[in-house]
Amino acid sequence: MKKCAKKTCVLTHTLINPQINRAVSMAQQKDPFLAARVKEETAAGLVIRGARMLATLPISDEIMVFPSTLLRSPEEDAPYAFGFAIPNNTPGLSFQCRETFDYTGNTYDHPLGARYEELDAVVFFDDVLVPWERVFLYRDVQLCNQAYKATGAVIHMAHQVLCKSIAKTEFLLGLAALLVDSIGIEQFQHVQDKITQIWINLETMKAFRFSAEQQAAPNAYGVMTPAWDPIDAARNLYPHLYPKMVDIVRQLGASGLVAMPTAADVHGPLAEEIERYYQSARQEAADRIPLFRLAWDTALSAFGARQTHYEYYFFGDPVRMSMAAFQNHDRTEYMETVRAFLANTQL
Ligand SMILES: Cc1cc2nc3c(=O)[nH]c(=O)nc-3n(C[C@H](O)[C@H](O)[C@H](O)COP(=O)(O)OP(=O)(O)OC[C@H]3O[C@@H](n4cnc5c(N)ncnc54)[C@H](O)[C@@H]3O)c2cc1C
Repeated sequence: MKKCAKKTCVLTHTLINPQINRAVSMAQQKDPFLAARVKEETAAGLVIRGARMLATLPISDEIMVFPSTLLRSPEEDAPYAFGFAIPNNTPGLSFQCRETFDYTGNTYDHPLGARYEELDAVVFFDDVLVPWERVFLYRDVQLCNQAYKATGAVIHMAHQVLCKSIAKTEFLLGLAALLVDSIGIEQFQHVQDKITQIWINLETMKAFRFSAEQQAAPNAYGVMTPAWDPIDAARNLYPHLYPKMVDIVRQLGASGLVAMPTAADVHGPLAEEIERYYQSARQEAADRIPLFRLAWDTALSAFGARQTHYEYYFFGDPVRMSMAAFQNHDRTEYMETVRAFLANTQL
């Protein structure tokens, strides 16, 4: 981390084991080396064989390989219990990327895909040597399971995620409001309700951040750390809000989101017709087309669909996050209040 702080170093990370058989542990798969595990220890370091998914931004300098899912058995899971960071060009390390959603590099046709495509990859370890000085965690299942919480890493990551969620919601509110304004649908009740829903989501996320920052305190290492509860509530809520807001953009844009001309069309043989028929209540075609292409790249394109999938899953499975929140947040105080009320009930 000191090295990263000193020089500009872009990192990707991979936490999840390959999706083969989720009913059994890594060691109990058909082949114990399907999930990346230690093949041997040498004087120089650990030798890793197997695979991990899913690393976003594989076009980075280095990859962090950390545990994510709870390791249950101290013996069986020990060869899978590690945390390290190595350069992406380490011998034996390779990345299987999905197809790109930046089709042409043309920001008119793909306003988001051409700017923000970051790729995702499955990572293969073919007997990769990880030098000991790059190994942060090894074989200690308990230490691996506590790493994010005990270091405060998860709070700082989730705080950053909350800032990202606010920025994305501001974008969706502006985008949806511009669509409404462009085609003059602001007088319809359900349209007003949909815009209000996005605004409420924005204020909710801002309130979570305000609360977390107001209650911030130094942690055991003296690092100023936001309060966990509002941040945990936000990270559990947003995966359910984002798909709904994107759906609002889809519903408001309706047919305007499809059959939008490309840059080539705008300068092509139908240029005059495009200028005439693609105007809207408050915009000329030249302004309306880029706005609706942006909405399409947010809600309907491959880039937009992947974003929605990302927002739902990238910080973990919302179902399991919710189960963890159920375990970790004490409800006794509220149960006692209701018990006290019931205690006063007369027969
Ligand atoms: C676009 C995108 C980008 C991502 N980028 C990264 C990245 O950069 N780095 C990284 O490490 N990870 C990344 N992830 C992975 C992300 O962390 C996982 O998708 C998430 O943790 C869920 O795990 P999974 O995909 O393996 O789903 P699975 O565990 O395979 O789950 C599949 C389904 O089964 C259910 N299920 C499975 N097991 C259980 C269980 N025990 N209890 C209840 N339900 C269960 C799930 O609810 C889900 O519906 C990314 C994911 C996406 C979609």
